[in-house]
Amino acid sequence: MSVTASALRELHRIHRQVADLKSQLARGPRQIRAAEELLERSDAAVAAGKQTLTHTKVTADDKQLQLRHREDRIKDLQLKLNQCGSNREYQALKEQIAADQQANSVLSDEILEALEKIDELQAQFAHAQAERARAAQQLDTLRAEAEAHRGQLESELQRVTAELAAAERALPADFKAEYERLARARGESALAQVDDETCSSCYQTLTTQTINDLVMARPVVCRNCGALLYLPEGYEQR
Ligand SMILES: [Zn+2]
Repeated sequence: MSVTASALRELHRIHRQVADLKSQLARGPRQIRAAEELLERSDAAVAAGKQTLTHTKVTADDKQLQLRHREDRIKDLQLKLNQCGSNREYQALKEQIAADQQANSVLSDEILEALEKIDELQAQFAHAQAERARAAQQLDTLRAEAEAHRGQLESELQRVTAELAAAERALPADFKAEYERLARARGESALAQVDDETCSSCYQTLTTQTINDLVMARPVVCRNCGALLYLPEGYEQR
Protein backbone atom coordinates (compact mmCIF):
# COMPACT_ATOMS: atom_id res chain seq x y z
CA MET A 1 0.00 0.00 0.00
CA SER A 2 1.35 3.38 -0.95
CA VAL A 3 2.38 5.93 1.63
CA THR A 4 0.46 8.50 -0.36
CA ALA A 5 -2.89 6.71 -0.12
CA SER A 6 -2.56 6.27 3.63
CA ALA A 7 -1.46 9.91 4.02
CA LEU A 8 -4.53 11.08 2.09
CA ARG A 9 -6.79 8.72 4.00
CA GLU A 10 -5.43 10.06 7.27
CA LEU A 11 -5.90 13.63 6.05
CA HIS A 12 -9.49 12.87 5.13
CA ARG A 13 -10.16 11.34 8.52
CA ILE A 14 -8.81 14.45 10.26
CA HIS A 15 -10.79 16.73 7.93
CA ARG A 16 -13.98 14.90 8.85
CA GLN A 17 -13.15 15.25 12.52
CA VAL A 18 -12.56 19.00 12.10
CA ALA A 19 -15.88 19.37 10.26
CA ASP A 20 -17.69 17.35 12.92
CA LEU A 21 -16.24 19.43 15.77
CA LYS A 22 -17.12 22.65 13.95
CA SER A 23 -20.67 21.51 13.43
CA GLN A 24 -20.94 20.51 17.11
CA LEU A 25 -19.64 23.95 18.05
CA ALA A 26 -22.20 25.61 15.78
CA ARG A 27 -25.06 23.52 17.15
CA GLY A 28 -25.02 25.14 20.62
CA PRO A 29 -25.49 28.74 19.43
CA ARG A 30 -28.07 27.58 16.87
CA GLN A 31 -30.13 25.81 19.55
CA ILE A 32 -29.79 28.83 21.81
CA ARG A 33 -31.06 31.15 19.06
CA ALA A 34 -34.07 28.90 18.50
CA ALA A 35 -34.78 28.82 22.25
CA GLU A 36 -34.46 32.61 22.44
CA GLU A 37 -36.99 32.99 19.65
CA LEU A 38 -39.37 30.62 21.43
CA LEU A 39 -39.01 32.67 24.62
CA GLU A 40 -39.73 35.87 22.70
CA ARG A 41 -42.89 34.36 21.26
CA SER A 42 -43.90 33.13 24.73
CA ASP A 43 -43.34 36.61 26.16
CA ALA A 44 -45.56 38.08 23.46
CA ALA A 45 -48.26 35.48 24.16
CA VAL A 46 -48.18 36.27 27.90
CA ALA A 47 -48.39 40.02 27.24
CA ALA A 48 -51.27 39.59 24.78
CA GLY A 49 -53.10 37.25 27.19
CA LYS A 50 -52.72 39.73 30.03
CA GLN A 51 -54.02 42.59 27.91
CA THR A 52 -57.11 40.68 26.77
CA LEU A 53 -57.81 39.51 30.31
CA THR A 54 -57.51 43.04 31.73
CA HIS A 55 -59.72 44.46 29.02
CA THR A 56 -62.40 41.81 29.59
CA LYS A 57 -62.29 42.37 33.37
CA VAL A 58 -62.69 46.13 32.97
CA THR A 59 -65.67 45.61 30.68
CA ALA A 60 -67.28 43.18 33.17
CA ASP A 61 -66.70 45.63 36.05
CA ASP A 62 -68.31 48.43 34.03
CA LYS A 63 -71.34 46.28 33.33
CA GLN A 64 -71.64 45.30 37.00
CA LEU A 65 -71.46 48.95 38.00
CA GLN A 66 -74.14 49.78 35.46
CA LEU A 67 -76.30 46.94 36.78
CA ARG A 68 -76.05 48.13 40.40
CA HIS A 69 -76.75 51.70 39.33
CA ARG A 70 -79.91 50.62 37.51
CA GLU A 71 -81.00 48.41 40.44
CA ASP A 72 -80.75 51.44 42.73
CA ARG A 73 -82.82 53.42 40.26
CA ILE A 74 -85.48 50.68 40.21
CA LYS A 75 -85.66 50.90 44.03
CA ASP A 76 -86.14 54.65 43.80
CA LEU A 77 -88.82 54.24 41.17
CA GLN A 78 -90.60 51.68 43.34
CA LEU A 79 -90.60 54.09 46.26
CA LYS A 80 -92.08 56.76 44.01
CA LEU A 81 -94.60 54.25 42.75
CA ASN A 82 -95.81 53.60 46.30
CA GLN A 83 -96.23 57.30 46.94
CA CYS A 84 -97.61 58.43 43.61
CA GLY A 85 -101.01 60.14 43.33
CA SER A 86 -102.17 59.97 39.74
CA ASN A 87 -102.96 56.98 37.67
CA ARG A 88 -101.02 58.33 34.69
CA GLU A 89 -97.90 58.80 36.78
CA TYR A 90 -98.36 55.32 38.19
CA GLN A 91 -98.49 53.83 34.70
CA ALA A 92 -95.44 55.77 33.55
CA LEU A 93 -93.45 54.61 36.58
CA LYS A 94 -94.54 51.01 36.08
CA GLU A 95 -93.39 51.12 32.44
CA GLN A 96 -90.08 52.62 33.35
CA ILE A 97 -89.47 49.97 36.03
CA ALA A 98 -90.35 47.21 33.56
CA ALA A 99 -87.97 48.69 30.96
CA ASP A 100 -85.15 48.93 33.50
CA GLN A 101 -85.77 45.38 34.68
CA GLN A 102 -85.69 44.14 31.10
CA ALA A 103 -82.43 46.03 30.45
CA ASN A 104 -80.94 44.57 33.64
CA SER A 105 -81.90 41.07 32.66
CA VAL A 106 -79.97 41.50 29.38
CA LEU A 107 -77.09 43.04 31.28
CA SER A 108 -77.02 40.14 33.79
CA ASP A 109 -76.69 37.68 30.92
CA GLU A 110 -73.88 39.73 29.45
CA ILE A 111 -72.10 39.82 32.82
CA LEU A 112 -72.43 36.07 33.19
CA GLU A 113 -70.97 35.61 29.72
CA ALA A 114 -68.13 38.00 30.53
CA LEU A 115 -67.35 36.11 33.77
CA GLU A 116 -67.24 32.82 31.88
CA LYS A 117 -64.97 34.44 29.32
CA ILE A 118 -62.72 35.68 32.12
CA ASP A 119 -62.40 32.13 33.49
CA GLU A 120 -61.45 30.90 30.05
CA LEU A 121 -58.96 33.73 29.50
CA GLN A 122 -57.48 33.19 32.93
CA ALA A 123 -56.84 29.52 32.11
CA GLN A 124 -55.27 30.53 28.79
CA PHE A 125 -53.13 33.13 30.54
CA ALA A 126 -51.94 30.59 33.14
CA HIS A 127 -51.09 28.20 30.32
CA ALA A 128 -49.13 30.91 28.47
CA GLN A 129 -47.25 31.72 31.67
CA ALA A 130 -46.36 28.06 32.20
CA GLU A 131 -45.16 27.82 28.59
CA ARG A 132 -43.08 30.91 29.05
CA ALA A 133 -41.51 29.51 32.22
CA ARG A 134 -40.71 26.29 30.37
CA ALA A 135 -39.15 28.22 27.47
CA ALA A 136 -37.02 30.26 29.90
CA GLN A 137 -35.92 27.09 31.68
CA GLN A 138 -35.03 25.43 28.39
CA LEU A 139 -32.97 28.44 27.32
CA ASP A 140 -31.06 28.40 30.64
CA THR A 141 -30.36 24.69 30.28
CA LEU A 142 -29.14 25.06 26.68
CA ARG A 143 -26.92 28.00 27.61
CA ALA A 144 -25.36 26.07 30.49
CA GLU A 145 -24.85 22.97 28.33
CA ALA A 146 -23.35 24.91 25.44
CA GLU A 147 -21.05 26.72 27.84
CA ALA A 148 -19.94 23.43 29.41
CA HIS A 149 -19.29 21.77 26.04
CA ARG A 150 -17.71 24.70 24.27
CA GLY A 151 -14.41 24.65 26.13
CA GLN A 152 -14.05 20.92 25.59
CA LEU A 153 -14.93 21.15 21.88
CA GLU A 154 -12.64 24.12 21.31
CA SER A 155 -9.61 22.41 22.85
CA GLU A 156 -10.43 19.27 20.88
CA LEU A 157 -10.64 21.34 17.69
CA GLN A 158 -7.32 22.96 18.50
CA ARG A 159 -5.72 19.55 18.94
CA VAL A 160 -7.21 18.15 15.71
CA THR A 161 -6.26 21.29 13.75
CA ALA A 162 -2.64 20.81 14.86
CA GLU A 163 -2.91 17.16 13.83
CA LEU A 164 -4.17 18.30 10.42
CA ALA A 165 -1.25 20.68 9.97
CA ALA A 166 1.20 17.89 10.79
CA ALA A 167 -0.51 15.50 8.36
CA GLU A 168 -0.43 18.19 5.66
CA ARG A 169 3.28 18.70 6.17
CA ALA A 170 3.83 14.96 5.68
CA LEU A 171 2.09 15.01 2.30
CA PRO A 172 4.39 14.22 -0.71
CA ALA A 173 5.48 17.39 -2.53
CA ASP A 174 3.72 16.59 -5.81
CA PHE A 175 0.34 16.44 -3.98
CA LYS A 176 0.69 19.56 -1.94
CA ALA A 177 -0.36 22.27 -4.38
CA GLU A 178 -3.42 20.38 -5.58
CA TYR A 179 -4.42 19.37 -2.08
CA GLU A 180 -4.02 22.86 -0.62
CA ARG A 181 -6.09 24.44 -3.36
CA LEU A 182 -8.87 21.90 -2.84
CA ALA A 183 -8.76 21.90 0.97
CA ARG A 184 -9.06 25.68 1.06
CA ALA A 185 -12.10 25.61 -1.20
CA ARG A 186 -13.88 22.46 -0.03
CA GLY A 187 -12.75 21.38 3.41
CA GLU A 188 -13.63 17.76 4.11
CA SER A 189 -15.04 17.20 0.60
CA ALA A 190 -11.62 18.00 -0.90
CA LEU A 191 -10.89 14.28 -0.60
CA ALA A 192 -12.76 11.15 -1.62
CA GLN A 193 -12.01 7.50 -1.14
CA VAL A 194 -12.34 5.08 -4.03
CA ASP A 195 -14.90 2.36 -3.26
CA ASP A 196 -15.40 -0.43 -5.80
CA GLU A 197 -13.74 1.66 -8.51
CA THR A 198 -16.22 4.45 -7.79
CA CYS A 199 -15.71 7.92 -6.33
CA SER A 200 -17.34 7.76 -2.88
CA SER A 201 -18.14 11.47 -3.04
CA CYS A 202 -20.15 11.57 -6.29
CA TYR A 203 -20.55 7.82 -7.12
CA GLN A 204 -19.03 8.27 -10.57
CA THR A 205 -17.42 5.07 -11.89
CA LEU A 206 -13.71 5.65 -12.40
CA THR A 207 -11.72 4.60 -15.46
CA THR A 208 -9.05 1.92 -15.37
CA GLN A 209 -6.56 4.65 -16.22
CA THR A 210 -7.62 6.60 -13.12
CA ILE A 211 -7.22 3.53 -10.93
CA ASN A 212 -3.81 2.81 -12.51
CA ASP A 213 -2.68 6.36 -11.78
CA LEU A 214 -3.79 5.95 -8.17
CA VAL A 215 -1.94 2.66 -7.84
CA MET A 216 1.12 4.48 -9.16
CA ALA A 217 0.58 7.04 -6.37
CA ARG A 218 -0.03 9.93 -8.75
CA PRO A 219 -2.28 12.83 -7.71
CA VAL A 220 -5.67 12.19 -9.30
CA VAL A 221 -8.84 14.25 -8.99
CA CYS A 222 -12.28 12.86 -9.79
CA ARG A 223 -13.24 14.14 -13.25
CA ASN A 224 -16.84 14.48 -12.14
CA CYS A 225 -16.71 16.15 -8.72
CA GLY A 226 -13.09 17.31 -8.55
CA ALA A 227 -12.21 15.59 -5.24
CA LEU A 228 -8.67 14.37 -4.71
CA LEU A 229 -8.97 10.57 -4.83
CA TYR A 230 -7.26 7.94 -2.71
CA LEU A 231 -7.43 4.16 -2.57
CA PRO A 232 -8.95 2.37 0.42
CA GLU A 233 -6.84 0.51 2.93
CA GLY A 234 -5.65 -2.88 1.66
CA TYR A 235 -6.66 -2.10 -1.94
CA GLU A 236 -5.56 -4.69 -4.50
CA GLN A 237 -6.02 -4.19 -8.20
CA ARG A 238 -8.29 -6.78 -9.78
ZN1 LIG B 1 -16.25 12.30 -7.58
